Amino acid sequence: MQPIVVIGTGLAGWSVVRELRKRAPDPAAMPITLVTHGSGDFYAKPSLSNAFAQGKTPTQLVSTPAEKMATTQQVQLLAHTRVLRIDTTAQQLHTSAGVLGYRQLVLASGAQPIRVPLQGDAAAQVLPVNSLEDFALFHQQLVEFQKEPENEAKASANAHGCCVSSSENNSKLSAKKQIVIMGAGLIGCEFANDLVQAGHRVSVVDPGTRPLAALLPEEASRQLQIALSAAGVQWHWGCTVQAVNHAQSSTDAGRLALQLSNGSQLPADVVLSAIGLRADIGLAQAAGLRCERGICVDTLLQTSAAHVYALGDAAQYAHGATLPYVMPIMAAAKALAATLAGQPTPVVFPVMPVGIKTPALPLVVAPPPLGTLGQWQQAEAGIWRFVDAQGQVRGFALAGPSTARRAEQIKMLQI
Ligand SMILES: Cc1cc2nc3c(=O)[nH]c(=O)nc-3n(C[C@H](O)[C@H](O)[C@H](O)COP(=O)(O)OP(=O)(O)OC[C@H]3O[C@@H](n4cnc5c(N)ncnc54)[C@H](O)[C@@H]3O)c2cc1C
Repeated sequence: MQPIVVIGTGLAGWSVVRELRKRAPDPAAMPITLVTHGSGDFYAKPSLSNAFAQGKTPTQLVSTPAEKMATTQQVQLLAHTRVLRIDTTAQQLHTSAGVLGYRQLVLASGAQPIRVPLQGDAAAQVLPVNSLEDFALFHQQLVEFQKEPENEAKASANAHGCCVSSSENNSKLSAKKQIVIMGAGLIGCEFANDLVQAGHRVSVVDPGTRPLAALLPEEASRQLQIALSAAGVQWHWGCTVQAVNHAQSSTDAGRLALQLSNGSQLPADVVLSAIGLRADIGLAQAAGLRCERGICVDTLLQTSAAHVYALGDAAQYAHGATLPYVMPIMAAAKALAATLAGQPTPVVFPVMPVGIKTPALPLVVAPPPLGTLGQWQQAEAGIWRFVDAQGQVRGFALAGPSTARRAEQIKMLQI
């Protein structure tokens, strides 16, 4: 029997497998194969943007190693294997490890960081953080061993038989860095907060005028800016990074020099790109599946091809929007598992507020549905509601202590 094949072992891929196994525990009756170009380790991606303040390493962020996930869920896992092409007529995948047939296919291939062309001889050093592998690179750049003269002397003493304790060496592991973050959206602001909290110096560069402008009412956004400024974040509004070069002076050896579009210069040790993600539609598009902002699916999460489904950051749902957050993935995974197990189940998304991990000013936002006309109105201190043209509340934002009133606001939306 051909297996159900899932492309991707992010939250979407593993969640649909978990839900499917609850319904179909016998692997002989329901064989499942997962294919991923990553390791397949299970981790919570949201924890990437609050890991530094907690001193977590990439290894510590893995909640369940790939092998254990595969054994527990009784699936075949093809890790470090890239899907190159989908043949929906033959119901086959062409992968870097050979051809694989499928009975039903689930595209849980996520999103890709948007990349803007940058000039400069160090442009390639700009890092996105959208996976554990990206995070490991970023982490390595931030906590790499500093080759200071003092350490070299100790290393030399060590080589001559003197003893240097590992704690002495480790104390040099976390020298504080100057980090420039491109983008003041959700991921940029969360990293900015996390990195200043971990003691680094952080500058955020954004072409807009305020943080999280696409998601928050203006006043909430201003409060976030003030709170992050007080924590130490510096802002560069109305401009973009144009060039990233290796610093020229010998005192700045190993550092970077950024040229901004407003003519100013910024020094940096590490540059993080958080300018947004775009659903990964390449494979689906090449296979002739209907795609717009994501891989288009109907309420059963079926794509325009028979036996092919999509969910997670890769998908564009029936109401026309992508929903690149955890809660929609959970709802979609449950519904899709039921459908794959033979009980067609349309996905129903409840109100799904997003918690923004900025401890300087915690926020919760339930944005209005895509394309809703209306405006944000402040209801009370720390509470805003999005009211549509008919006077109906269609979204809310909560800040600071008011984030505890999430349940009450959800009820208001459901009336
Ligand atoms: C830093 C950060 C913080 C976040 N914080 C929050 C938060 O607080 N709350 C919230 O709700 N959401 C948050 N999100 C969003 C949330 O984490 C994502 O929506 C979710 O993790 C996406 O899961 P996914 O499985 O769809 O995609 P991904 O996790 O991107 O997984 C995609 C998988 O597909 C595989 N793949 C892709 N192409 C191929 C191919 N050709 N061949 C083989 N394998 C392939 C990849 O290897 C990977 O395993 C955050 C996101 C980031 C980046």
